[in-house]
Amino acid sequence: MFSPLVENLIAQLSRLPGIGSRTAQRLAFHLLRVSEEEALALADSIREVKARIGFCRECGNLTEEELCGICTDTRRDRSLVCVVEQPADVLSMERTHEYRGVYHVLGGALSPLDGVEPQHLRIDELLARVQRNGVEEVVLATNPNMTGEATAGYIADRLRGRTRVTRLASGLPVGGDLEYADEVTLGRALAGRRDM
Ligand SMILES: [Zn+2]
Repeated sequence: MFSPLVENLIAQLSRLPGIGSRTAQRLAFHLLRVSEEEALALADSIREVKARIGFCRECGNLTEEELCGICTDTRRDRSLVCVVEQPADVLSMERTHEYRGVYHVLGGALSPLDGVEPQHLRIDELLARVQRNGVEEVVLATNPNMTGEATAGYIADRLRGRTRVTRLASGLPVGGDLEYADEVTLGRALAGRRDM
């Protein structure tokens, strides 16, 4: 219907999460309408984050440096480590303003059917961290769905006897993602965490 170039832009946009073909079309026409400068600012920022953003050596969070801003913040409590699946979950936890510890980002959840096994996640790094750093509590904040629960169970078993392991309280929407939980619910789940 459109030129192949426009079709390609629509196709690329519709691959983004939450963007259906109608929205992709609307975004594509918006980009065609705005100035070249404005449209290319988007392209440049995508190029720049892909080139410069990497993973924190300590926790796996996104960062431009070797260590992320949370790991280098001396006010954070290093004896408390919150385990999450994705960098976006760090933001969700931070929005509660109730967590003063540090994080450990796994990079996903266990899902043998999809070929995600323990060695594909940053689980060994977590064990090494607990071993090394005098961690007093690990809060498992993986998503309250099947793969998240399986991951929490697996990590709790691996950490048993090494440190205190807790899990976010129920009250989070079951089957959902941490990313979409509102900060009040998530703050409550953190405050009411239970031992595993
Ligand atoms: Zn970090």
